[in-house]
Amino acid sequence: MSLMFTGIGVSRGVAIGDAHLVRRNQVDVSARKLTKRAIPGEIKRLRQAIKSARKELLATLGAIPEDTGGDIAAFIETHILMLDDSLLTKKPIETIKNEQCNAEAALQQQREELSKVFASMDDKYISTRIDDVNHVIDAVLRALNDSNETFGGEHWKGQIVIADDLTPADTVVMRHHGVAGFITETGGQLSHTAILARSLGIPAIVGVHNIREYIKSGETITLNGDSGLILADATTEMLNAFRQQQKALKQQQRELSKINDMKAVTRDGVHLQLNVNIEIDDDIKAMKRVHVDGVGLYRTEFLYLDQSAVPTEQQHFKAYTKVLRALKGAPLTLRTADLGADKIFSSTLANERRNQHSNPALGMRGIRLCLNDTSIFIPQLRAILRASSRGPVRILLPMLTSTAEVTQSLVLIESVKDDLRSEGVEFDEDIPVGGMIEVPAAAIAADQFAGQLDFLSIGTNDLIQYTLAIDRIDDQVDYLYDPLHPAVLQLINHVIAAGRKANIPVAMCGEMAGDPRYVRLLLGLGLTNFSMPPNSVLEVKRCLIDSRRVRLRKLAQSMLQATSWEEQQSLLARINGN
Ligand code: PEP
Ligand code: MG
Repeated sequence: MSLMFTGIGVSRGVAIGDAHLVRRNQVDVSARKLTKRAIPGEIKRLRQAIKSARKELLATLGAIPEDTGGDIAAFIETHILMLDDSLLTKKPIETIKNEQCNAEAALQQQREELSKVFASMDDKYISTRIDDVNHVIDAVLRALNDSNETFGGEHWKGQIVIADDLTPADTVVMRHHGVAGFITETGGQLSHTAILARSLGIPAIVGVHNIREYIKSGETITLNGDSGLILADATTEMLNAFRQQQKALKQQQRELSKINDMKAVTRDGVHLQLNVNIEIDDDIKAMKRVHVDGVGLYRTEFLYLDQSAVPTEQQHFKAYTKVLRALKGAPLTLRTADLGADKIFSSTLANERRNQHSNPALGMRGIRLCLNDTSIFIPQLRAILRASSRGPVRILLPMLTSTAEVTQSLVLIESVKDDLRSEGVEFDEDIPVGGMIEVPAAAIAADQFAGQLDFLSIGTNDLIQYTLAIDRIDDQVDYLYDPLHPAVLQLINHVIAAGRKANIPVAMCGEMAGDPRYVRLLLGLGLTNFSMPPNSVLEVKRCLIDSRRVRLRKLAQSMLQATSWEEQQSLLARINGN
């Protein structure tokens, strides 16, 4: 029987593939059939996980203070001994061989068998020892989950990953393994996982609560990342309809590619700057496929993604010069590390410093974290300055709240410049320093920020999150996400006006600047510099070059005054009509 689900479509595209269920917060123990060739590797993976679990238990044992009662240590020693027990180790290996299944499923099978045996014991004490078995099995499963192969493997190619939640790092791994699409039970459209999916062109839907209760691994799933519609076990007619949608999207892309070389100028002669947001290497490739004026936002915190430590100055430098080479003289805006909130990476150091507080989005993130710990900030600033001798580079400071943060950053940049000068290292003495306006306080005080900085860039993702008090990664409040909220529009209008008054450029690099529904409205408000994921450029360009700013100005001003949703919608329809 066909089943239909709906969620928040966050990355367009139609995908058809077999479901692959993953649990990010729990280990996925569902059985997967392996090929004969994969068996030795799977056994090795299990042995490795047992070794890691033993190491973890030994470390725990070593950390027990001397004066602790003997029972605790004996308890852990028992668990270590159990790891050598053939019932827990050899038996699952036999299962992997005989049933050609994954290590997690083999362990789970053994857990179930042992549970039955323990439950049938009359002795109450002995029957509760199943808790020890569970503890040891969980330790091995956790170690398996941490091994690379568990998250993202060859067998994911062409499949649709269904998870409770996914991190931005998971999205990159999935892309490299060629997944067809993904669905998560939680997450909002502005989460960095969703942003990355859009930028990587992976069709994705988030916020589909409990979907894993209804779908089994291996079932054929169809998803439309535009409408947020998911079908399981679709009929032939339904599948044909989805294939038609896939075809129509491809045709639309082909049509759009025809405007790639056209100048980005409106019908009434307003010159536009269309820039791209980039995060990872794949974006550089995507960027090369479209004609753009430069990089308006390089989310450098993604360099921390696959690292086991904070990137060195040289690693930063290499990454930046690589983008500069691809840009061939076009400007590169490097945002300094905006770590924290949902950008928590696998790097040990970042993990250690990860915000454990209940409100990470309001905590130590972005510029706050960098100023608080200059051991992260200084190597990055040195690398940015060094890279500025290789091509036009601009510094962009994230999450500014008070002008004191700008002052502090500028002082630090000057001292790094002094160091480089005394070392005889070349850099751009006049490197522009700009600030992200993404906290309402900074938007309201935009005049003061404009007085201190060379340019501003509006980050609508956070600006909307903080203005409307909606956690951008919480699907339960995603329905409140509203770029047209009068408060949001007034803040944007105010920042653009502040830039004009101070005679400095104002760009926008939040998702709103890449959304064809809103770009004409933004043009009407006076914005001419848009930065967006590479695969949004052509659609945005189409909307903008077909418009006249003179006509949009009045409509945009009326939008600021609109008093009802109906009035807004009717104005938006006029703005987006011709
Ligand atoms: C924003 O907040 O709009 C932005 C561009 O930054 P990020 O999405 O990385 O927080
Ligand atoms: Mg932001």
